Amino acid sequence: IDRQLTHRGAARSVSGLASMLAHEIKNPLSGIRGAAQLLEAGLGDEDRALTRLICEETDRIVRLVDRMEVFSDQRPLKREKINIHTVLDHVRQVARSGFARHIRFVETYDPSLPPVAGNRDQLIQVFLNLVKNAAEAIGDAVDGEIELSTAFRPGVSLRPHGSDRPIGLPLEFRVRDNGPGVPEDIASHLFEPFVTTKSSGTGLGLALVAKIVNDHGGVIECESHPRRTTFRILMPTYR
Ligand code: ADP
Ligand code: MG
Repeated sequence: IDRQLTHRGAARSVSGLASMLAHEIKNPLSGIRGAAQLLEAGLGDEDRALTRLICEETDRIVRLVDRMEVFSDQRPLKREKINIHTVLDHVRQVARSGFARHIRFVETYDPSLPPVAGNRDQLIQVFLNLVKNAAEAIGDAVDGEIELSTAFRPGVSLRPHGSDRPIGLPLEFRVRDNGPGVPEDIASHLFEPFVTTKSSGTGLGLALVAKIVNDHGGVIECESHPRRTTFRILMPTYR
């Protein structure tokens, strides 16, 4: 009984801290958002696209923080029918106006790709992390290129451990870059937390990506060679 009480007390103080932090983070964010909206009035179309991006991204942080607040609930995330191309377009736009200005983007989309059942914010997070890693691998190389591609592969299925029924995973999403490739010594534990080769990296990006993909019933793998690194995600379709 003693241990249980302690456990409950600890859980309560953790969630109390989370909601305090959430409050502290959301305050300055609403300031940023308000300022961006005020700026928007005096701007031309091109700059207005940037202020809109500021608003969209601050809203996304607010939602992330909200999710952190309800983390202790373990409520299942809302899933909806998503056209992954709208997610990829958003991610490319964020990247092109920020950390990947100098990088060429190539999109190879299958226009008749069926939708995925997913959480939009989480899927944005997946591709933003992959594209950010790709951009960081490319560095300031002048011929940097990132390819985003999608394909429908109705034949692809996978038999999960301990199951005799294969699951169809016909949606394929790829993020490819022409950077130097994944360092060989970390290749076999790439998706584990705290694995990083960057001086200020967290090593949490790919662990989070793998968790989200897994939560969506999908799988992720990486194939890397110098000048050709591909992260490939397979997911079931919406139904
Ligand atoms: P972080 O980016 O904070 O280091 P990640 O989990 O996102 O953490 O990535 C882990 C490591 O995997 C990186 O430090 C890097 O060494 C390697 N990596 C990830 N993506 C790529 C890529 N596209 N090209 C080369 N190496 C990569
Ligand atoms: Mg990263």
